[in-house]
Amino acid sequence: MSKKILVTGGMGYIGSHTVVELQKSGYRAVILDNLSNSQPGILELITRITGVKPEFVNLDMTNQQGLNAFFHNHPDIKGVIHFAAYKAVGESVEKPLMYYHNNLGSLVNLLACMQEHPAASHLVFSSSCTVYGQPENLPVDEQAPVVPAISPYGNTKQISEEIIEDTCRSNALLTAISLRYFNPIGAHESGLLGELPLGVPNNLVPYITQTAIGKRNKLTIFGNDYNTPDGTCIRDYIHVSDLARAHVVAMERMLKKDNKKAHEVFNLGTGTGYSVLEAVQSFERSAGVKLNWGFSARRPGDVEKVWADTQFANEELGWKAEKGLDEMMSTAWSWEVNLNEGLMG
Ligand code: NAD
Ligand code: UDP
Repeated sequence: MSKKILVTGGMGYIGSHTVVELQKSGYRAVILDNLSNSQPGILELITRITGVKPEFVNLDMTNQQGLNAFFHNHPDIKGVIHFAAYKAVGESVEKPLMYYHNNLGSLVNLLACMQEHPAASHLVFSSSCTVYGQPENLPVDEQAPVVPAISPYGNTKQISEEIIEDTCRSNALLTAISLRYFNPIGAHESGLLGELPLGVPNNLVPYITQTAIGKRNKLTIFGNDYNTPDGTCIRDYIHVSDLARAHVVAMERMLKKDNKKAHEVFNLGTGTGYSVLEAVQSFERSAGVKLNWGFSARRPGDVEKVWADTQFANEELGWKAEKGLDEMMSTAWSWEVNLNEGLMG
């Protein structure tokens, strides 16, 4: 019987791709999600891609009793990949308590349940490169200092890593891997799964694809006076399926007891930085669509440039990102076209 892995937030953007990768690797996935930022139709799309319908439980993870009952009813869970969280930086500035309650409350409840049910003692956690702020040295490696977060959202990631570190130290059975994502973009190669932003997108790639399809008038590029070759910000964009695969590898590492410490931290990026203008050019090239765009002032809070030192993840985790920027853009575009043709109804 294949091992069962709990994927919290598994109906969301990265979670749904991870469920696909888990199933492809022979695991059974059970999804726990309250659909606060995702749609029930995702389950059918995962099933179309993999041929296997994952189990789905609609539950809010801040409901401790409900979560306890869930673990009680699923004694065969061997590990947890935890995505469930709110993720809008701007909203977190306006509603910090909502973010601390949801993101930290869910994690604390989850860890308490994992302590109660030691069969499920391995955790993979979604962290972010925002913990580095603007790093002094590039590429940035895992030893770089964690700097005070600019937003409550970013702070929930830092505090979550600390909560995990403390809990692993106090509990000999628990192991965890925190994965610091750089900029996940793109969509499943089938065009059947991708990012579903609610309302006006904050992130670059959904804004690009929505502009290209005609939902938005014009892409605004925030700032052209940065200290970079073309004046626009530089990021390390990583294909969501490469990122998803890393979660399976991280879980396997703990299941096989290959981890070197109770709580390990890895960067997940490609190691290459691209400017916003290069990202736009890549989109135009791979989608074959001309984009309407213009410059505006810098967006407050944006770091100038960041890309990952991937050596530790490549060598220690045995994982490497494979897909390039053009493929990230072409898959994001296929997904947008499919959405426009009514894929999600
Ligand atoms: P997403 O919003 O698409 O997915 C998160 C899922 O969690 C959603 O389906 C939502 O309904 C669910 N959820 C939220 N709160 C919940 C709760 N209390 N109980 C149950 N379900 C709940 O987000 P995503 O882009 O897939 O991100 C996944 C994780 O990765 C998040 O923790 C996010 O902070 C982190 N992350 C994302 C990015 C990014 O650029 N997308 C970058 C770094 C880190
Ligand atoms: N960006 C932009 N216009 C947009 C959205 C984003 O110019 O409408 C830029 C943003 O300033 C940053 C890069 O694109 O330099 C990536 O931004 P995103 O919000 O996708 O990710 P972040 O790196 O902020 O997490």
